[in-house]
Amino acid sequence: MSKLTPARRQYLDIKRQFPDCIVMFRMGDFYEMFDEDAVIASRELDITLTSRQHGASAPVPMAGVPHHALESYVARLIDKGYHVAVCDQVGEPDGKGIVEREVTRVLTPGTLTEPTLLNESKANYLMAIFPFGNAKTSQWQKAGIAYVDISTGEFAATQLEGNAVGVAVLEELARLAPREVLMPEGWVNDDVRLPDGIHLTPVQDWTFDYDGAAQLVCHHFQTQTLEGFGLRDMPAAVCACGAVLHYLRRTQKNALAQLTEVRAYSTSQFMVLDQFTRRNLELTETIRTGKTQGSLLSVLDKTSTSMGARLLRQWISQPLLEINRLNARLDAVHALTRSEAVRETLRAAFKAFSDLERLVNRLMIQRTTPRELLALAHSLDAVPELRRAIHGMPALESLERRLDPCDDVRELIRAAINDDAPANFSQIGIIRKGFSQELDDILASSQSARDWIAGLEAKERRRTGIASLKVGFTKVFGYYIEVTQANASKVPEDYIRKQTMVNAERYITPELKNYETIVLNAEEEILAAERRIFDRLCQQIASQSERLLTTARAAAHLDVFLGLATVAVDEGYTRPILTEDDRLTIKNGRHPVVEKLLSDGRRYVANDTHFDAGAKIHIITGPNMSGKSTYIRQVALITLMAQIGSFVPADEAIIGLVDRIFARIGAQDEIHAGQSTFMVEMVETARLLNGSTPRSLVILDEIGRGTSTYDGLAIARAVIEYLHNNPRLNCRTLFATHYHELTELPNILPRAHNYRVAVDESGDEVVFLHKVVSGGADRSYGIHVAQLAGMPRPVIERARELLAHLERQKSDFKRPSFVQDLPPSGKPKQKTLFDEPPHPALVALKGLQVENLTPIEALTKLYELQKLAQETP
Ligand code: ADP
Repeated sequence: MSKLTPARRQYLDIKRQFPDCIVMFRMGDFYEMFDEDAVIASRELDITLTSRQHGASAPVPMAGVPHHALESYVARLIDKGYHVAVCDQVGEPDGKGIVEREVTRVLTPGTLTEPTLLNESKANYLMAIFPFGNAKTSQWQKAGIAYVDISTGEFAATQLEGNAVGVAVLEELARLAPREVLMPEGWVNDDVRLPDGIHLTPVQDWTFDYDGAAQLVCHHFQTQTLEGFGLRDMPAAVCACGAVLHYLRRTQKNALAQLTEVRAYSTSQFMVLDQFTRRNLELTETIRTGKTQGSLLSVLDKTSTSMGARLLRQWISQPLLEINRLNARLDAVHALTRSEAVRETLRAAFKAFSDLERLVNRLMIQRTTPRELLALAHSLDAVPELRRAIHGMPALESLERRLDPCDDVRELIRAAINDDAPANFSQIGIIRKGFSQELDDILASSQSARDWIAGLEAKERRRTGIASLKVGFTKVFGYYIEVTQANASKVPEDYIRKQTMVNAERYITPELKNYETIVLNAEEEILAAERRIFDRLCQQIASQSERLLTTARAAAHLDVFLGLATVAVDEGYTRPILTEDDRLTIKNGRHPVVEKLLSDGRRYVANDTHFDAGAKIHIITGPNMSGKSTYIRQVALITLMAQIGSFVPADEAIIGLVDRIFARIGAQDEIHAGQSTFMVEMVETARLLNGSTPRSLVILDEIGRGTSTYDGLAIARAVIEYLHNNPRLNCRTLFATHYHELTELPNILPRAHNYRVAVDESGDEVVFLHKVVSGGADRSYGIHVAQLAGMPRPVIERARELLAHLERQKSDFKRPSFVQDLPPSGKPKQKTLFDEPPHPALVALKGLQVENLTPIEALTKLYELQKLAQETP
């Protein structure tokens, strides 16, 4: 140890405290990483790996990034799931020992607050999952879940029970899509696999212990009991909260202050949407690209602020089941659809709005910059305008009340901060003159020096007669007087040369040096004083955070209502009528996304849907590409939109609230062919059959497609029968299939009804009308689709021939067999050279070099060939 340099020793001490993190160690203008960290960083960040000699010991690997680019490198490491400890210099170098350093931030995927590292339109959740049961067998009896977004202060917890706890946990993961999940390390094994994009952090088991957790929660919220939070009967939830708080204490101490409450919730207040349904309905991203563009969110998101965008995403991810809450949302949207002028005013007012929610939270963790405070004031400026615009609308009255312009805060910021305040604390000029006596005194003491320097240029120009003389300042050289080379001869004697430029010389005078010292010393003092005043100001404003956050959240709601009203008007949506029975009636419904994507002047064909007690299962047959998938998804999306409080793309919609939507698609050949996708299809279907209730909405698209025709048909039919006959299910079901054999089912299942997508065959060509009508399809038009896809004509003709034959056989009640019964292909089979060896005369003829033969030779050869032909048959 004695051989180590002091810096190396300091580094190793710090690294020992953060063994799970990549430690970024500030040295001069760089953040350096050493040893294994350096090797990882050089690989992951594509930066050069060097080495550094520390005293007499062997050189150690080192890699560094420039300090000003820290954030972008950290972002990349976090994205890859690493944790990063940023170690800064916290003292001044004293010239003798080494600078004091300490870890100022520990960044993990779920604990980010830096705006540059966050997606502004998404919440950034850290979640703790506490499985209760047998860790060895991974048997879950209960589970506690707690999640927190420290960039906004949201903190909530629940307990899941029942016989499918694992599935319920997956549904919560799908709903919240956290960035990082904490689990007790004793439970983490190879079987624990989280959905893509979620980083798993195993933590010590004891951080989930009930007693410690309960104590930590009470201590944090300064309460005696857990009752106030509704957590008393949720012990597993308390354990999860404990783990979250413990983790934050270690990584983001400052963030704890802003967690002012924890909300106990029950998953029964939300519509259940498992990850397959979310994916299949393309709620927030498309299946093909994984991007928001083309998803339901992209159509509905007309919000103006990032707070609004986050809230809307949350609403889409968790549709509600409470009719009163939904009607209140619909009332608000409805009120805003009525006046274009109001919408216009609101939109204009929101333009000035920053991310108030995250600003306030940064204020609470003491990471605010002067410009962020100005942005806060600027946002508050817009609040009175928002209130005025919605004043007198009963549906928005409670929102209006919660929008507090916080005049005191706004005035305080305006009085304290200069309009052109610098972006950070390395320059002076943050605090306005007149705000602080202390600061004004320091300024005054150096004012005469400043004035003297300010007047110097004019004075020296007069004295020297050099009109181009300039007084300037650089950080490195301080103040100077600059004279061009051409005027060098006119320079007075008291000028002392300091620096030679290409075309000019720079000088100082002893007097200027004097004043400079006064000004620079004062500047240090001013910087320090401004920082002090600023910090005090932030604390003062942070004490009003509750009011500010209430305002921020009310603004976010208003923004979402405004956005939904805007889409409703722009796209011609109507207000759905919500009921608590199992009705579902839609007149002229449209698919919100597909209707916007149709090009070439094609118009979207609207369709009706009507479920009643006599028709609970709709079997929709129709050719491929006729619009079956689009239609059944449209019904699911309209239902979901109604249950977030949005208007819907239809002329009329009566929606009996749905407790869960199951959307299942048969294995898609384009993704992966083979057994495994069929397996996935079947696992998904099994979950559906086990999980739905009479209030669920089930949409099944080509279930059974992933296997052979007869298997597929058999499975599809068995699924429909089960849904129909099991009294626990009997749920509203839309089953799209191209197996027209299934149209026989309504003959034996009274609550099943046939629909088909209409096809126009009146002209020469088959035209898909995309219109869903009563009755079953009797043909699949697959050949028509093949033709549309550009298959060669002979293939199409041959397929028609085969189809006609199969259909004839079917009407004779004969089961077709491809091997024996099919007719040979239309054209007679031609003999080819490959069928048998060529005739020897032909071979000889081919080998002749005619041009080299004399007429006599030719005649002789001809004679030989004829003979050969006659001898060999
Ligand atoms: P299927 O599920 O029957 O194979 P899809 O639902 O995938 O067919 O629809 C195929 C295409 O037809 C869609 O991509 C869309 O372009 C068009 N389409 C579907 N429904 C409609 C409709 N109602 N109006 C207009 N075009 C539609």
